[in-house]
Amino acid sequence: MSTTLAFIGLGHMGAPMAANLVKAGHRVRGYDLVAMPGPGVEPADSASEAVADADVVISMLPAGRHVLALYDDVLPAARPGTLFVDCSTIDVADARTAHERAVAAGMRALDAPVSGGVVGAEAATLTFMAGGGDTEFAEARPLLEAMGKKAVHCGGPGAGQAAKICNNMILGVSMIAVSEAFVLAESLGLSHQALYDVASTASGQCWALSVNCPVPGPVPASPANRDYRPGFAASLMAKDLGLAANALRAGGVRAELGLRAADLYADYAERVGSDEDFSGIVRTIREQSGD
Ligand code: NAD
Repeated sequence: MSTTLAFIGLGHMGAPMAANLVKAGHRVRGYDLVAMPGPGVEPADSASEAVADADVVISMLPAGRHVLALYDDVLPAARPGTLFVDCSTIDVADARTAHERAVAAGMRALDAPVSGGVVGAEAATLTFMAGGGDTEFAEARPLLEAMGKKAVHCGGPGAGQAAKICNNMILGVSMIAVSEAFVLAESLGLSHQALYDVASTASGQCWALSVNCPVPGPVPASPANRDYRPGFAASLMAKDLGLAANALRAGGVRAELGLRAADLYADYAERVGSDEDFSGIVRTIREQSGD
C-alpha cells in the first residue's frame, strides 16, 4: 500500500533511506535545512509544509535537541493521529520526551534507530530497533522493511534507543579489548595472524575481531586495510558511547568499562573526527604503550 510520507533530515543516512521509500512506491516529501532532496523526493519549503498531509513522518537528524526542536515546530501542523517515526540516534530520555510531546499533541510515535551505516542505508539492509506501541510498530514495519532487512520491536517508548546504545556500548568496549590484545601480542612477539586464527575460533571471537579487525591482514575487507577509512567513524562511536554514558549515570549503573570506553573514544574522536574508522583506536593504544 502506498503511504504519503514526510522525510525530515536528508543527510548521509536520510537521503538513501528516503530514496528506498520512493523505490518501494511511496509518495515522499522531503525537507532538510541544507541538503537538497534526491530524485523522486518532492521538495518542501519547510518541515511543517512537508508534514501537513503526511500519514507518517520519518526523521533522521543529528541529535536529540534537533528532534525535540523539530517536533515542537511541526506537531501543530500535522493531522491528528499522524505516526511520527524518529530514526535518529538520540538519548533515551529525549526519545521518551519526543514520544510524550507527540502523544500530547494527538499524534502517535515510535523511536526506530538503525544499525548498518551508510552502506546499509544505500543497500536497504539496515537493522531497525523500535520502541513504542504494538499498533504503531505494525504500521511502521512495512516502511522500515523498505529501508532495511530487519526490524525488531524492543518494547515501549525509548526501547529502540536503549537497544541501540547497549549494543554500541558492547561494540566500543569490545573494539578496545581486541585492540589491546593485538598490541599485547605485538609486545609478546605473537603475530597478528596467529592471534586472529586462535581468537576468531575461540572464546575471544566477536564482531570487532572477526569482521572489523583493527589490524591489517587477517580480515581483508576491514577498514585497517585501507588506512582506517570509515566504515563506522570514530566520531559516531564517541557520540553513541556519550549517550550510553549519560544513561549509565542517570540510572546509577556501575559500568566501569562503558564509562572508560566513552572517555577513550571522546579523546580519540577529538583528534580524528569522522575521517577515521573507530577501529583506528588501536594506533592510539600502540602509540601510548611503552611510555
Ligand atoms: P548527517 O549530518 O549527514 O545528516 C543530518 C541531516 O539533518 C543534515 O543534512 C542536516 O542538515 C539535517 N538537519 C539538521 N537539523 C534539521 C532540521 N531541524 N530540519 C531539517 N533538517 C535538519 O548525519 P547522518 O550520518 O545522516 O546521521 C543521522 C543520524 O543517524 C544521527 O543521529 C546518527 O547518529 C545516526 N546514525 C548514523 C550512522 C552513519 O553511519 N552515518 C549510522 C547509524 C546511525
